[in-house]
Amino acid sequence: MRIVRFSIDGNVAFGVIESVTEGRPDTAPPGAEGREGPLVDIIKGHPFAEFERTGRKVPLRDVRLLPPVLPSKVVAIGRNYADHAAELGSDVPEVPVTFFKPSTSVIGPDDPIALPGFSAEVHHEAELAVVIGRLCREVPRERAADVILGYTCANDVTARDVQRREDQWARAKGFDTSCPLGPWVETDLTLAAAGDLAIMCTVNGEQRQLGRTSQMAHPIADLIAHITEAMTLLPGDVILTGTPAGVGPLHSGDEVAVSIEGIGTLTNKVIKRD
Ligand code: MG
Repeated sequence: MRIVRFSIDGNVAFGVIESVTEGRPDTAPPGAEGREGPLVDIIKGHPFAEFERTGRKVPLRDVRLLPPVLPSKVVAIGRNYADHAAELGSDVPEVPVTFFKPSTSVIGPDDPIALPGFSAEVHHEAELAVVIGRLCREVPRERAADVILGYTCANDVTARDVQRREDQWARAKGFDTSCPLGPWVETDLTLAAAGDLAIMCTVNGEQRQLGRTSQMAHPIADLIAHITEAMTLLPGDVILTGTPAGVGPLHSGDEVAVSIEGIGTLTNKVIKRD
């Protein structure tokens, strides 16, 4: 099931997409959903508990997709792929590097990434995002799957020069628009499946990053155990699991896309901050 959060006629709602071809709603097989393309079945309430579909359907192309969740916090993991750690001149740390991206950094699919004036070197980082489904703390790795609602695509947009200059990364990785999420939460992937997906980043259609989530040094279950040893996670909180090699600069006018096998594609334009 693919859960979207969207606005239509000034209202915000969650919905479930019907008959969508992976990442490319416009190419869903004809006849599956009529001439209007894939439909969104609006749900009553929110997706963090048992919910009902209302049966009220709107064409996906008529809605504006929002970030699929509004996290109270985004907990991110640094240097979790050896080849990316190496390109930054370091090793994979034995204890995962953990940092926050604030809720105010989150944007949705097709929202612009606004380059801040205090950086001259902003990079893309394609990442698998884990969406937490229930309040949890001290989750043993064997129980990790129980607290996951699903998965989405993320871009851990980073002001690399600021990251090098400042000891903590709050500004480098926490500026407004630095956390695109979307386009939806895919709930049908098992934890094992999520641990071996192709992940790719393109800029203006050109491939920049390509890896597999199986290359993570610290797998998803270990990350959930490690994080919840310290803090409570709430429904809708998000864990960014690190990025494979190939990070590089974004410039005003670029279009950056993060694609993950079995989930879809998250696309954002890049602009200069006003
Ligand atoms: Mg990252």
